[in-house]
Amino acid sequence: MRIDILTLFPEMCERVLDESMIGQARKRELVDIRCHNIRDYTDDKHRRVDDYPYGGGQGMLLKAEPIARCFDAIARQQEQRPLFIYMSPQGEVFRQSIACELSQMPGICILCGHYEGVDQRLLDEYIDRQLSIGDYVLTGGELAALTITDAVTRLLPGVLSEDKSFEDESHYNGLLEYPQYTRPAVWRGREVPEVLTSGHQGKIEQWKREQSLEVTRRLRPDMLDK
Ligand code: SAM
Repeated sequence: MRIDILTLFPEMCERVLDESMIGQARKRELVDIRCHNIRDYTDDKHRRVDDYPYGGGQGMLLKAEPIARCFDAIARQQEQRPLFIYMSPQGEVFRQSIACELSQMPGICILCGHYEGVDQRLLDEYIDRQLSIGDYVLTGGELAALTITDAVTRLLPGVLSEDKSFEDESHYNGLLEYPQYTRPAVWRGREVPEVLTSGHQGKIEQWKREQSLEVTRRLRPDMLDK
């Protein structure tokens, strides 16, 4: 899968994406992630890509043309036009099922806004989907784009040590994950639940399922309502 990120801060994105499991996945060519500086697509001699909003108002807006040129250049490199996503506090709130959906696509392209956002005409002309990472406002779309890139990449074949390991995780099947324990068996007087050291796989699976339901009921009852 290919993921392109359009940003004013490609180095910031690269720094995060080169670390840990996503960095490993890139090195092993399980995912092709490319960060693009929107400023490389302007004709402005000062590399400015923002301007004042018509009608007044707070702050600056990203101009349409450099973003359009950047996306066109990316799309030309691919057989199929990638899905163009704009990170926005006004978008649909991102969740695991969207991560699964995006991970099935050959390519996605993520636009990080900045300042007060982006000229509406670019959004109308180019954007397929707007996604938010929650009901709060960030200074820019980079952290949001990185969140999505991480959540999608870890679902790609071969990225996790076992492909099934995300199936037990919170949100994959509409439940939160069961509690987990590692050595030692007793820590500060607290013991690991006996069933987990019993070696009885059937009972262990049943315990995990019950705990998953219990944790979800306690922490996120709204998920069970759904
Ligand atoms: N003026 C915009 C509004 O009120 O909707 C907010 C602009 S925000 C300061 C700058 C950029 O950060 C946005 O264009 C968007 O790309 C990104 N951003 C901010 N909050 C976000 C969120 N919750 N989810 C995704 N992206 C967000």
